[in-house]
Amino acid sequence: MTELAVGELNPPARTLLGPGPSNVHPRVYRAMMAPVVGHLDPFFVATMDEVVDLLRLVFQTANRVTLPISGTGSAGMEASLVNILEPGDKVVVGVNGFFGERLADAAGRCGAEVFPVTAAWGQPIAPEQVEAVLRQHPETKAVVVVHAETSTGVLQPMEDIARLTKERGALLVVDAVTSLGGIPVATDAWGADVVYSCTQKCLAVPPGLSPMTVSEAALQALRERRGKVPSWYLDLSMLERYWGNKQTARTYHHTAPITMIYALREGLRVAVEEGLEARYRRHARNGRALQAGVQAMGLELHAQEGHRLPVLTTVRIPEGADDLKVRRALLNDDNIEIGGGLGPLAGRIWRLGLMGYASSEENVLLLLAALERVLAGLGVRVYRGQGVAAALEVLNAG
Ligand SMILES: *Cc1c(COP(=O)(O)O)cnc(C)c1O
Repeated sequence: MTELAVGELNPPARTLLGPGPSNVHPRVYRAMMAPVVGHLDPFFVATMDEVVDLLRLVFQTANRVTLPISGTGSAGMEASLVNILEPGDKVVVGVNGFFGERLADAAGRCGAEVFPVTAAWGQPIAPEQVEAVLRQHPETKAVVVVHAETSTGVLQPMEDIARLTKERGALLVVDAVTSLGGIPVATDAWGADVVYSCTQKCLAVPPGLSPMTVSEAALQALRERRGKVPSWYLDLSMLERYWGNKQTARTYHHTAPITMIYALREGLRVAVEEGLEARYRRHARNGRALQAGVQAMGLELHAQEGHRLPVLTTVRIPEGADDLKVRRALLNDDNIEIGGGLGPLAGRIWRLGLMGYASSEENVLLLLAALERVLAGLGVRVYRGQGVAAALEVLNAG
């Protein structure tokens, strides 16, 4: 045997408190050790039905077509657009961050005419502006919005935009990549037509799948297309025959990533066992505690008050602090990963995630203590002890 310099894989055990991936739940890791079976094995086919049922619970939907797309959140984004949009279609896209921009780009690639509705990076999209564009272009096919903008830390209120979209007879597409499993995603109550997410944020499962749910109206639009869906892999009319049919009628499309489906099943079981309401409360409380702590240390939050995500907190980098040095110190000294800013916010904010399994009281206190120590060590003025104290006050209040 020739000498091979590649050693056994031994990743560091990080505390993942950035924009994702988040820490994987131990039960999910255990499920991933289960034997791989064939993708049309009766066992696996039954497993798929269970995953679909669990997904309907977390998406709060009765949609028949509810399935995980093989691929990360961006695959779900692509699938949502490529199935609905045809060249020349008009689409309104909310753009108030990096992922809104990505959606506008992806919609344009479908040949659609994109009407962006913008807001500052840190503020939500104003429903009145969506309404104004819809009034100008009444034949708009779809309105696309990001529920939880991971690049800015903004939670988009959905009710008004959803109502306006429905009034105009357009389809509503929602990016729930960072919200699903951490913040209520009320697919049917909103009347959303396509909602997609990912596994590696608030579901505490590794990256690799994009759960998605599709309304009958969106399927109707798919059936009424003038031409074929330009993506073979993401064509929902074929995927629904594999996922949407009951056991006996499933037909091969592509090999489902068996181990990831096991992982998602366990992640969803953990979520449902905790109880969705309790899970949302946990994320909300820990997010509030972290935000109180960060402010008590003397740092400023970036997202507009009243629209802050509990699962992803954006913090302005204080004067005199070196973005990279701080993040490197957290990683090297404390094994903690946080995120930097994207696009125009690069070098201006940090992104602190409390998602899924990682959204815990311990992690709130750990992160505040570590951040304080690192900043003080680099000579940045912070109110020492205040962050943890303020967070404890929130946590103790319940
Ligand atoms: C992470 C994220 C995505 C992209 O998901 P990937 O899994 O990285 O492909 C899309 N939208 C939002 C809001 C995200 O936070």
